[in-house]
Amino acid sequence: MSQILLLVEQKENRRLLLEWLAVYYEVLLPNSTENIDDFLSLNQSFDLAIIDGQALKIHWQWIAAKKQAEHPVCLPFLLITSRSDVKMATQFIWQTIDDLIIAPVEKIELQARVEILLRSRQLSLTLKLSHDQLDLALQTAQELNEMKTSLLYMIAHDVRNPLNFILGTTQVLTKYKSTLTDEKTQEMLDKTQAAVKSIDRLLDDVLLLGRSESGKIAFCSIPLDLAKFCNELVAEFQSGLKLKPQTDPVTLIFVNHSESAMVCLDASLLRRILGNLLSNAIKYSAPNTQVFFELKVTEIEVIFSVKDAGIGIPLADQERLFDSFYRAANVGIIPGTGLGLSIVKKCVDLHGGEIVLSSEEGVGSTFTVTLPIAKIEEEQVLPAMP
Ligand code: ATP
Ligand code: MG
Repeated sequence: MSQILLLVEQKENRRLLLEWLAVYYEVLLPNSTENIDDFLSLNQSFDLAIIDGQALKIHWQWIAAKKQAEHPVCLPFLLITSRSDVKMATQFIWQTIDDLIIAPVEKIELQARVEILLRSRQLSLTLKLSHDQLDLALQTAQELNEMKTSLLYMIAHDVRNPLNFILGTTQVLTKYKSTLTDEKTQEMLDKTQAAVKSIDRLLDDVLLLGRSESGKIAFCSIPLDLAKFCNELVAEFQSGLKLKPQTDPVTLIFVNHSESAMVCLDASLLRRILGNLLSNAIKYSAPNTQVFFELKVTEIEVIFSVKDAGIGIPLADQERLFDSFYRAANVGIIPGTGLGLSIVKKCVDLHGGEIVLSSEEGVGSTFTVTLPIAKIEEEQVLPAMP
């Protein structure tokens, strides 16, 4: 129901107007004992004000301020005046009024003017809403555009590097194959494979990001033996660590705090989550340190945590860490695109879970992921395909 403020000093008019208007609208009226300035300072919202000449002279500054505050939405003021008073109003006072009606007031005329003014307000409110929505759409489009530009720069840079490396090694292998030892040849082939994998992973990330922006990532929850899943993932990372020609590699330790861990989750998204967290923990750790990967399953949720004693993340960077392409200030020459964590966050959101970071620069970081689960009995797990 529309709200109408009645600012009428003349008593008899006030009584009559209240009687007529209260049938169709909610009428706001300062009561007779109340100081009118106190009432106005309460800043109550309303859709239309009806005011007489006396009240207009006293309150025109308040009216101007009120209209300004609602701009660009129209807040209509209807003046009820006598024919003689119309001449007395100054041009400035006119600017605060949207319509006037000459007393004696006809009930039907009053109602028609009130309805017209209320419609103007409604229209301007609708326009403002569309304007705000357009603004939001424009902002989103600009953000998407900036993201696409960053993506193109990133692809140009991050694909060209491994491609140049592959080109270089294949040229060396072709030119010097007869003089290279088997060991050296194998090392170059391993590095070439790693470069191809890094391009493949980058393209996967970009595709996943694109699909998530258009809301097209499929969520497919299947029964999973979590302990087995995590053990396999850890083994994969451990064999990757062994391949690295490091004297003091990072040690990855898996700790499972739950006996039975049969749950329904999306295996492919979970792999993205844990894979990115583990690869970060290893990548941003100094040699000869440990990374702890822990799993805990409760009745309602599964909690993964990945803890390292690496370079840590400066406090100032922590808030934007899950934005695409954002990298902390202390990464130095450690390579990366800044896509991993934004993908992790999207995959966690798709599960309806949450990710929490606790980190101190120079000390280390812990990422904790909590996902809600539907626990299942062991017999329900489908046997592996032969
Ligand atoms: P990539 O897309 O190849 O994973 P990235 O590792 O730089 O690149 P994210 O995984 O998104 O990107 O991580 C974003 C940033 O967060 C990193 O650049 C790094 O600054 C910081 N970060 C993430 N994990 C850690 C960690 N375990 N220790 C220290 N810094 C981290
Ligand atoms: Mg990463």
